[in-house]
Amino acid sequence: LDRNISTLQRHLDRFADTGILNRINGQSLPARSGEWFDTHSPVDESHIARVARGGAADIDAAAKAAADAFPAWRDMAGTERKKILHAIADGIVARAEEIALCECWDTGQALRFMSKAALRGADNFRFFADRAPAARDGQMLPSATLMNVTTRTPLGPVGIITPWNTPFMLSTWKIAPALAAGCTVVHKPAEFSPLTARILMEIAEEAGLPPGVWNLVNGLGEEAGKALTEHPAIKAIAFVGESRTGSMIMKQGADTLKRVHFELGGKNPVIVFDDADQDRALDAAIFMIYSLNGERCTSSSRLLVQDSIADNFEEKLAARVNNIKVGHPLDPQTEIGPLIHKVHFDKVTSYFDIARQNGATIAAGGTAPDGPGHYVNPTLFTHATNDMTVAQEEIFGPVLTSIRFKDEDEAIALANETQYGLTAYVWTNDITRAMRTTQAIEAGMIWVNSENVRHLPTPFGGVKASGIGRDGGDWSFDFYMETKHVGFAT
Ligand code: NAD
Repeated sequence: LDRNISTLQRHLDRFADTGILNRINGQSLPARSGEWFDTHSPVDESHIARVARGGAADIDAAAKAAADAFPAWRDMAGTERKKILHAIADGIVARAEEIALCECWDTGQALRFMSKAALRGADNFRFFADRAPAARDGQMLPSATLMNVTTRTPLGPVGIITPWNTPFMLSTWKIAPALAAGCTVVHKPAEFSPLTARILMEIAEEAGLPPGVWNLVNGLGEEAGKALTEHPAIKAIAFVGESRTGSMIMKQGADTLKRVHFELGGKNPVIVFDDADQDRALDAAIFMIYSLNGERCTSSSRLLVQDSIADNFEEKLAARVNNIKVGHPLDPQTEIGPLIHKVHFDKVTSYFDIARQNGATIAAGGTAPDGPGHYVNPTLFTHATNDMTVAQEEIFGPVLTSIRFKDEDEAIALANETQYGLTAYVWTNDITRAMRTTQAIEAGMIWVNSENVRHLPTPFGGVKASGIGRDGGDWSFDFYMETKHVGFAT
């Protein structure tokens, strides 16, 4: 821990004088208004840095830079783009420790998970780098009378708006395919966690990315974020965040007919049938809600457990939850660090009383350690019903709500009785039941007898209030590119 703290301090010192500046057209700039905001660590509420508070004028400059840089980037050979994106991945690997330490300090996420998230960022760049040369490849679809050809071209400058949970990994997941497709980018990271977006930008430019291809504007959602979604030069918005912010962005982008891709909230069920491997299911259920502080869109925050095994399963679960180590995020032993912000801490802890009022049992946690820092104890609500607030609202913390079901039909009905539909996890050893339930569950991604294991070529996204569109693999290129059809008479 001490070594990690002193290494972190060296990395943070550089921000002490300059603060975190915007980066527009290859230049580090304060906000045109001269205004700043501050970022604090959730560990002890200490000041980390002041951050340029970008607004409409900064977004306008960034969008113009992205528009000016677009033709040359679009026309660069895919093999050249591939080289630059691989060089970015190399740069991420070289600075992985710095990225992980800064991310933990800025977000409160535990180092044991964040060091992997930094390297996953490099994987994202490599994955899309390898696909850059073929991104524009089209198809021949000849008919009796026409030689039909489809081609794909990049959309133009795009806006990318990211949230504060795993901000580094999510930024790479959105920006790498945009660049591989030939789009230029204006990125607006979350105001609660701006550190690693700035490091990522530096890595990209050192890797040879031309100025203006990727621009970074920090700022508040209702200022810089809003201006980005309304800017006429920006052709599309890739957004990750809350469902209600997605609605706002859709309205804001309506006048300029923005193409949108939304990855939003979730209240994902993990369904455990009585024929499942219960030990594996227990491990996975714990991992999917109590890792990454539960601040994870794909977390399994609703446990649906079959009546016949529920007493035993919940008892083992509560014992395990009580043993989870809450502590300093830079301590390699820590499993749960502090929540991102006081506002979020207040939201998460408010559900402890709500659970009591709802009539659920608090089987573990339901408390917060004494400060400083926004720490909460991992929490398990049992004997809940699906209509309770704690079963319906996205709490976005290390809080699991357990609901019992009688049979398969009831499990499916409960899984679907929510506004969300991002992921679901089904645990059963009956293959036909697995097939039936996965067909019936309303979710964009379902894992059977597994926690969430990402395979990058597969589609990622949600249904209902959890999102619009898919990315991953070629789906990312569908979003960042325009498909054109030409028919030649034969
Ligand atoms: P948020 O919606 O509050 O903010 C996300 C981003 O949007 C921030 O950069 C913010 O500044 C910006 N923003 C806010 N208002 C805006 C506006 N009017 N116009 C433009 N931009 C605006 O979300 P958050 O609290 O930062 O993140 C947590 C949420 O993100 C959770 O709901 C979580 O489930 C979701 N999430 C979803 C996925 C997914 O893949 N589905 C992944 C990660 C997080």
